[in-house]
Amino acid sequence: MTSASITASAPSAEFRAAGTDLSERRRSGVSTGPLIDIPPAPDTIGVTWDADGKLRIGALSSIAAIGADPRIAATYPGIAASALGLATPQVRHLATLGGNLAQRSRCWYFRDPHIACLKKGGTDCPARSGNHLYGVAFDLGPCVAPHPSTMAAALLAYDAVILTNQRQGLSIGDLLGDGSSGSSDHALAPGEMIREVELAAPPQGERALYKRAISRSHAEWPLAEVCARAVVTAGMFQFIRITAGGVAPVPLRLAACEAALQGKPASATTIAEAARQAKSGAKPLPMTAYKLDLLEGVVRDVLERLAR
Ligand SMILES: Cc1cc2nc3c(=O)[nH]c(=O)nc-3n(C[C@H](O)[C@H](O)[C@H](O)COP(=O)(O)OP(=O)(O)OC[C@H]3O[C@@H](n4cnc5c(N)ncnc54)[C@H](O)[C@@H]3O)c2cc1C
Repeated sequence: MTSASITASAPSAEFRAAGTDLSERRRSGVSTGPLIDIPPAPDTIGVTWDADGKLRIGALSSIAAIGADPRIAATYPGIAASALGLATPQVRHLATLGGNLAQRSRCWYFRDPHIACLKKGGTDCPARSGNHLYGVAFDLGPCVAPHPSTMAAALLAYDAVILTNQRQGLSIGDLLGDGSSGSSDHALAPGEMIREVELAAPPQGERALYKRAISRSHAEWPLAEVCARAVVTAGMFQFIRITAGGVAPVPLRLAACEAALQGKPASATTIAEAARQAKSGAKPLPMTAYKLDLLEGVVRDVLERLAR
C-alpha cells in the first residue's frame, strides 16, 4: 500500500508501528478509533549514509537497532546513547523510531479512560490541580505533562529533519511544536506518517553524551534527561548544543546554558555557571521544583565529562 492510499483509506485512523504504546491505550479504551498497521517498506527500515555524510534513518527502524549500530555510535553518540538509555531491552527491540517520536503522553490522567483531560477533548488539565509529581518544571502550556520522547530530545540536539508522507524537510522543532498546545504531543496532521529522519554530518572533533535522572534504575521515563554535543579545542567550547527532556511539554534547547559556554574556557567555573543557567525560564509547579535541581546536576555532569 502506498503512503497516499494509506492516508486516503482512513484519514482519522491511528497508525500502529510496534504497538508498545498504542496497545496499552487500546486495552484501556483510551484509543478506540480505526487502526492502520504501517507496512514495512525499504525506505522506512534501516539506515542509509549519503555521500556527504548525512544519515537517514527509516521510521520503522527499531530503537535497539539504532542503539547497536556501530557507525551511529561513532558519529552520533548522543543518538546511540539515548536509544540505549530508554525503556527496557524488550521494549527497545520492538519499539520504532517513528513510534517513539509520535508516542502519546504518559500522564496518568491522560491514560485513565474515565478522566477527561485536554488531550482527550476535555476543557482543563486535571494534573495541574491534582498530582503532578512527574509533571513539567517549565510550565509552558495548559497541559502539565512532560513530553515522553527521549529520541525527540536527542534529535533536537542534532537539528534532525523529518520526512513524512505529506511533508519533506520538517524540522524536529516544528514536529514537536512549542508546548503551547495542550491537546497534542506533536504537530503531525491526521493521516501524516513519519517515514524518515535525517541527520547532517556533525562538525569535526565533536563529542556527545546523553544522561538521565530516573526514579528507578530502568524501565521508567526520566525525571530529567540531557543530550549534549560539544567541540572543545584549545580548552575552549567552540561549539555547544544542549537539549533537555522530561521537564517541559516539549523537549527544550537550553539556550541560556549554551550561551554561557560558547567561546568560553572549558573550566569548572564556566561549567558550574552554565549548569545553573539550565534552569533559566523555568516555571515549576508546586510539586516539580525538584526536577530543576536534577536538571542542573545532569547538565553539569555531562558538561564536565565532555570537557575532560
Ligand atoms: C517500561 C517502559 C519504559 C519506557 N521508557 C521510555 C523512555 O524512557 N523514553 C521514551 O522515549 N520512551 C519510553 N518508553 C516508550 C516506548 O519507547 C514507546 O512505547 C515506543 O517508542 C513506541 O514505539 P512503537 O513503535 O511501539 O509505537 P506505537 O505504539 O506503534 O505507536 C505509538 C504512537 O505513534 C504513532 N506512530 C507510530 N509510528 C508512526 C509513524 N511512523 N508516523 C506517525 N505516527 C506514528 C501511533 O499512531 C501511536 O499513536 C517506555 C515504554 C515502557 C513500556
